[in-house]
Amino acid sequence: MGLMLDKVHEVAKIPGRQETRIVKINPLVRIKGGGELTPPLFLQGGRVYAENGQEIVDRPDWFEEELAKLTEATKEQVGFSAAPPAPAVSMRTCTTCGAEVAKKQWGLHQANHKRKLVGRPAGG
Ligand SMILES: [Zn+2]
Repeated sequence: MGLMLDKVHEVAKIPGRQETRIVKINPLVRIKGGGELTPPLFLQGGRVYAENGQEIVDRPDWFEEELAKLTEATKEQVGFSAAPPAPAVSMRTCTTCGAEVAKKQWGLHQANHKRKLVGRPAGG
């Protein structure tokens, strides 16, 4: 789904009447940073777009700084709520079976080895 600059308000005609009604709102926020010559970026649906509607994957250095200036409510509306991303699970390589084991599961994994419930020694 691309940037919908012209569809911030999606409207529908009411049948038989010369009226339209807003059926959906696609909130959009314009941010600008990095100096006069830097084009603005648009935030919508958790994505970043350039003026021409192209999605920006490599966000510029000033992006985070400008994003931080928005209110939580605004960020939430455009899909940039400050809810922290799920932390990367730290993994440890099991010396017995070579499996990548989440540190949280490490004790259980080792206990399972002791009970011979998992794995065999690598290359054994
Ligand atoms: Zn193991």
